[in-house]
Amino acid sequence: MTLTGQSFIAGCWVNNNDNGTYCAFGPKLNKPLEQAYQNASSQMVDKAIEQAQCAFIEYRQSSFKDRAHFLNCIADEIESLGDALLHITHLETNLPIARLQGERGRTINQLRFFATQLLSESSVFHRLNEFEHAMPHRAPLPKPNLELRYIPIGVVAVFGASNFPFAFSTLGGDTASALAAGCPVVMKSHTAHPGTSELMTKAVERAIKKCAMPSGIFSMIQAKQYDIAHQLVAHPFIKAVGFTGSLNVAKRLMATIQTRHEVIPFYGELGSTNPQFVLKGKDDVEARLGESLVQSMLMGNGQFCTSPGIWLVPKGEQRFLDSVKEAVINSQSDTLLSPAILSSFRKAICERAELEGVTLLAKGEQLEDHHAAAHVFVTDLSTYLTTSELHEEVFGPQAVVCEYDSQEQLQLFVGSLDGQLTASIHGDEMACNQHGKLIESLQYRVGRLIYNQMPTGVEVCCAMNHGGPFPSSSDVRSTSVGSAAALRFLRPLCIQH
Ligand code: NAP
Repeated sequence: MTLTGQSFIAGCWVNNNDNGTYCAFGPKLNKPLEQAYQNASSQMVDKAIEQAQCAFIEYRQSSFKDRAHFLNCIADEIESLGDALLHITHLETNLPIARLQGERGRTINQLRFFATQLLSESSVFHRLNEFEHAMPHRAPLPKPNLELRYIPIGVVAVFGASNFPFAFSTLGGDTASALAAGCPVVMKSHTAHPGTSELMTKAVERAIKKCAMPSGIFSMIQAKQYDIAHQLVAHPFIKAVGFTGSLNVAKRLMATIQTRHEVIPFYGELGSTNPQFVLKGKDDVEARLGESLVQSMLMGNGQFCTSPGIWLVPKGEQRFLDSVKEAVINSQSDTLLSPAILSSFRKAICERAELEGVTLLAKGEQLEDHHAAAHVFVTDLSTYLTTSELHEEVFGPQAVVCEYDSQEQLQLFVGSLDGQLTASIHGDEMACNQHGKLIESLQYRVGRLIYNQMPTGVEVCCAMNHGGPFPSSSDVRSTSVGSAAALRFLRPLCIQH
């Protein structure tokens, strides 16, 4: 499939030779790929947003049935991109084809899921509405008819992440939920997978035409220029931002939003260390548990926001440590998504290896120089609590085992814990009962509390929450996965009398 290397602005692929080009990096080839992508101009960004605002007037009035049809049509068009999509995404990310097939399926199902939700009377789109009858004779004052409706917020800016090129990118959860809510989307393509973004945009372009939707409803901007990202969130027609990425970038974009006359909601789904609590009383499964944690940590070569990064284990569980060691030593290195991610990973590993009281438990096999091999460190909980460098997310195949002495120490850990997307409790019923206080307080630090399962893998369904207290996400009240994700892009309106 031929790529244009252009941005898609309100129904047109725009040729712009004035702002230079950039190439994506091929992690497997370890060099930039050939296809050049044109940096969009700031005028193109303005045009995309203005056209989105014009499209909003028509799109917000579309029926739920028409929107559902549109979302299903996008899903069909992604399917019909076939292997060409997988091929280009594999080149840009080096994520295995099987993983990409799975993620593509999830992305298609996510669009169909929102379509079903729009049509279901019991879904979030319908059940929030309230009506209260007038009481004209109420004393001392009559009560008018009151109706609460939820209406789309306006044009939404979406930023995708590098590590989920389908599910959290061009036509991922943020775009699907914003379109379902009735909001046009202006999408900033991730420079790690611009070809993937272009193909996905071709799918939505065809769906817009087939469903006769307004052309300004979706634009995709290619630009390796951060001022474009800031221009996007600063524009007065942008009414909310859906962002998946790092805390560092989220903070910069939020700072720009703070300078606006109208400060708008910023929904950043960020990172997390996802602590794993191995409770005493689980003696006979600890060996298998070590292996499972290593497998979970290795998913996507550690580039999952739900990757288990801290494992709290009772002191002296030698069988657990041995099984972790064996699984790590037998693991093989692989590429990371970009040279920047690789260099941050290497820096963090070197820094951790130098920390007092921290030792390297095991390292995976290093197959190629430009690969990242798994690293698991071990320390004791007292050292962890006083070493702030260990509290940060390391994006890549890495984890820290923290040995603890007592339940009191675990309480101190929970007390000092930053907000997390998830935490897992590994323990039988008796152990959980014995740690009731700890588990109760843990609920206030996480967005998803998991019992005896790994944190990697996020189900797309009504009961999911993918978010959590800061810094795992920027707004603890919201989720970026599941039907409630659409609430981020709706606002209440009361109609009186
Ligand atoms: P990232 O580096 O934060 O990039 C996200 C977006 O911000 C990209 O479009 C990027 O543009 C842009 N950007 C980068 N630097 C910028 C700056 N200084 N000013 C304005 N915009 C800037 O994140 P990533 O590498 O894609 O993703 C990795 C992170 O995302 C990890 O921390 C991971 O845990 C997190 N994540 C979270 C979730 C979740 O659901 N919570 C899911 C996946 C990933 P360029 O393309 O030009 O670099």
